[in-house]
Amino acid sequence: MYDNNPNVTEERGYIYGKWMTFDNTWTISFGGVYCYLVVGEEKALLIDTAYGEGNLRQFVEGITDKPIMVVNTHGHFDHTGGNPWWEEVYLSEEASQDAKKAFGPEMQEAFNAKPYPDYKMNIVGDGYEFDLGGRKVEVIRIGSHHPGSIALLDHGARLLFTGDELEAGQVLLFDHVRDRVPKHKANMEKLIAREAEFDMICPAHNGTPLNKKYLHDYHTLDEQFLAGTATVMPNTAGYGYPPVARGMSGGVEQERIQYGGASFCYNKPEAEE
Ligand SMILES: [Zn+2]
Repeated sequence: MYDNNPNVTEERGYIYGKWMTFDNTWTISFGGVYCYLVVGEEKALLIDTAYGEGNLRQFVEGITDKPIMVVNTHGHFDHTGGNPWWEEVYLSEEASQDAKKAFGPEMQEAFNAKPYPDYKMNIVGDGYEFDLGGRKVEVIRIGSHHPGSIALLDHGARLLFTGDELEAGQVLLFDHVRDRVPKHKANMEKLIAREAEFDMICPAHNGTPLNKKYLHDYHTLDEQFLAGTATVMPNTAGYGYPPVARGMSGGVEQERIQYGGASFCYNKPEAEE
């Protein structure tokens, strides 16, 4: 772990990659996770904090000198692990229940060693707006992959940040896929209804940015799953997703369905029952 490494300052830019995807919009990558730094005239908004290895705060403050607010797209630890570098964060009610739960004891220890493990959690829901000065970012609830997922609609740069609910590798639906897909479909409809307000989609894994066709492909895939007509792929290969993902699937066999650019991986329902 890098957390207590005195050389961490010298490792800036090594632990994290960063690039300016759009004007005043930075992608910060750690391993397979993308965080985003959205900079307004007065404030900046950090969308997700990955695992928070190294000194994430120092890294982000090296990009902008504006005061930084932190928001999580959902409660999974690969998006919330770096929260304790800050005194407070913004997230949904359901995300707040999971945000401080690391994926393992070693990770939990690293979390507890960060400056603010008792950071304050400010709950946000549909319609909440972050005003960054000349750039407003709106919260849209889209829970399915995680019940507390939110999309963030950046009215300034016309971007939609979707966390893990819409991405180009595969959306992981884990267990109880028959309960999750109807929610996913309703969420895609919620986003399609707003699509005149954004030009590109910025997900949290597997390639960014994406064009809006993905939104429609996911909606079609949702419909096909519910109609029982989805194309089941011969294996789970895509972005290296394993056929049996221990920890994520509890050792149950996984299945992949695909339509256009959209793909779901989930526990085979018959293997669960
Ligand atoms: Zn997730």
